[in-house]
Amino acid sequence: MAKLAIIVLIATLAITTHVVFSQPVALKAQPIKFQNNYLNFEPPGLFDFLKWRWNALRDGHPKSAQIPTPIVTADLAFIHANSQAGSLMQPAVTWVGHATALVQFAGLTVLTDPIFSERASPLSLVGPKRAQPPGIALKDLPHIDVVLISHNHYDHLDEASVRALASQAGGAPLFVVPSGVKTWFTDLGITNVVELAWWQTHRMQSSSGPVEIVLTPVQHWSGRSLTDRMDTLWGGFAVFTKDFHFFHVGDTSYSRDFQDIATRFADRQPAHGFDLVLIPIGAYAPRWFMKDQHVDPEEAVQIHKDLRARQSVAYHWGTFSLSNEALDDPPIALAAALQAQGIPATAFSAIPIGQTLKLAARAER
Ligand SMILES: [Zn+2]
Repeated sequence: MAKLAIIVLIATLAITTHVVFSQPVALKAQPIKFQNNYLNFEPPGLFDFLKWRWNALRDGHPKSAQIPTPIVTADLAFIHANSQAGSLMQPAVTWVGHATALVQFAGLTVLTDPIFSERASPLSLVGPKRAQPPGIALKDLPHIDVVLISHNHYDHLDEASVRALASQAGGAPLFVVPSGVKTWFTDLGITNVVELAWWQTHRMQSSSGPVEIVLTPVQHWSGRSLTDRMDTLWGGFAVFTKDFHFFHVGDTSYSRDFQDIATRFADRQPAHGFDLVLIPIGAYAPRWFMKDQHVDPEEAVQIHKDLRARQSVAYHWGTFSLSNEALDDPPIALAAALQAQGIPATAFSAIPIGQTLKLAARAER
């Protein structure tokens, strides 16, 4: 009887922890609505989940970071002036933390996967807690024109952040989301939402001309509870303007999808690929549990190469501890991977939270 009670207790704890950590344990077999191109993602069973948690506990993972995630005071004067610059806007990216980045180009101020909350969790008191505050506070943001949401996991789709953005002064931004995610917004009363399937395009105008936003496949999964696994789509975003091509990878494991993306857009990128690619480098250990969900830094470098990026910036690290590696491991592994492949460290930068990287407009038109 005592044994049974312990098993029930462990299972309850595991399921609770799982919800909080957003790990892909399925409560029951359910019909899959969306699936990857090159991997039939199967949510790991409770046994694998417990094995991961048990081993991490036993081996003391994640270790504490030796170096706190670097953070600098954001250049708000530049960011705000740039947001008003219209067709004179200088392409620039500011890392806010995790997969949240403020990207400015072609007269547009774009925010990716906004999370400004203290925890990446459905609960306010438990779940992964941020190691550093956001590089720009919500109240200090310039007017946001477009928000790109890669998928519905808690660390990429945060209710408090979305609500705050929807009520920004001057009107809600346009939220662009993958198939099935729009309902989540309309349930909150937010209607300025465009939903895209893979390879679908949303066309709009900015002060400097036409803008195309394309949702592309990446290899991941979705779910916010035990019963909605793979019910909504996930993806990366390619954004094309005359002067700048931007790519927001979001969350992904490594797959041939990135070569497919390069091939798909090769005609409009004859000399080089994207001018800026935001690539996740964290939450990859242990590989046996994470490899179907998240790339490691070496695979992140492969994405940089596949997309023929002029400039890549690392994100999805140093903010929330979601896996076994220490918070400061990813940039060290990234530096080693870049060196091993003979790519200059400046081509794929792990910039501090709050830092703005100013970029060149597209060389080819
Ligand atoms: Zn995710």
